[in-house]
Amino acid sequence: MSIIKQNYSLRNYNTFGITAKTKYFTSFTSEEELIKLLENDICKLEKMLILGGGSNILLSEDFDGITLLNDVKGINIIKENSKEVIIEVGAGEIWHDFVLWSVKKGFSGIENLALIPGSVGASPMQNIGAYGVEVKDFITQVYYIDIAKKKKKELNNNECGFEYRNSIFKGRLKGKGIVTKVIFKLYKTPINNTDYGDIKEELKKLKKNASPINITEAVINIRNRKLPDPAILGNCGSFFKNPIIKNSKFKKLKKEFPNVIGYKISNTKTKVSAGWLIDNAGLKGYREKNVGIHNKQALVLVNHGNAKGKDILKLAEKIELIIKKKYDISLEKEVNII
Ligand SMILES: Cc1cc2nc3c(=O)[nH]c(=O)nc-3n(C[C@H](O)[C@H](O)[C@H](O)COP(=O)(O)OP(=O)(O)OC[C@H]3O[C@@H](n4cnc5c(N)ncnc54)[C@H](O)[C@@H]3O)c2cc1C
Repeated sequence: MSIIKQNYSLRNYNTFGITAKTKYFTSFTSEEELIKLLENDICKLEKMLILGGGSNILLSEDFDGITLLNDVKGINIIKENSKEVIIEVGAGEIWHDFVLWSVKKGFSGIENLALIPGSVGASPMQNIGAYGVEVKDFITQVYYIDIAKKKKKELNNNECGFEYRNSIFKGRLKGKGIVTKVIFKLYKTPINNTDYGDIKEELKKLKKNASPINITEAVINIRNRKLPDPAILGNCGSFFKNPIIKNSKFKKLKKEFPNVIGYKISNTKTKVSAGWLIDNAGLKGYREKNVGIHNKQALVLVNHGNAKGKDILKLAEKIELIIKKKYDISLEKEVNII
């Protein structure tokens, strides 16, 4: 049975390393336990924060409500044939552990998403992506508990409304559903997606062929070089989404800033590198007391030690203003502000 603790520190439950408290804190290990928990008066009356690895939240202040840590475990193959495998994964499993499990089994699909921090249950939230791969292409179903009805529900891939760093769980179902299990379809023939980023060069350096397990190693190496380790320097990865603008606007931008980085994503739209916009505004490495912008990766805001959530939020808003003024582009936060 879940024990509800009071006035509990979330310092070790968020990768920004922010010292903030939650009024109540508990965890659950199964759907049944969660449904029982939701019957509790505290859950009925208080605001609720569902927590996985805390690697995509900014605690802007103490949380005046109940925090529920998702600890539903289990990785089970539920179906397979000679080409594909269907796997049910508990939302509380660590995402990177699942990636390692899958490549060790010889399955392919999610290897480019290695070393993304956080839980499996949060992976559909913002449709995690990296190195040319998005998780939506490997999710077949998401199981969640409807908070109001206290009932198990299920969505298929289409119903999840997956988009770039977005899904129904950040939209219509925000705060209404708690993901408990995710079903993945992976492949027995290697996909070997090496076109994006420096994967090919890294494989060359490693003197290894493209294979799911070698791509995993390459991605881990690249990410370790480029991104700060939250255990050393508090951060949440990319703080902003890459803005999507009209091709005509990108053309104008390119005239003024010939080096601007953008990828055409349709006949009408281009995705612009938010990191480039921030870097080109001279902000990479910028620091204000305990908060700053990482000196290698302009899209990552960092806690240099004992920063308050509201100071990071202030810096983010300052960056948004500068980018709007310089390029007439509005940045959207990728990180969830609590
Ligand atoms: C160093 C670093 C690198 C990163 N790189 C990437 C990257 O390459 N690509 C990428 O996409 N992301 C990246 N991220 C962001 C982050 O790792 C992902 O968004 C991850 O999926 C968050 O998982 P989490 O369990 O930590 O979520 P949390 O931070 O715990 O939660 C995130 C949001 O989802 C909600 N939530 C969590 N679990 C559930 C659930 N079971 N049911 C309902 N709601 C839930 C929370 O309430 C919150 O709003 C990076 C972060 C860091 C620190």
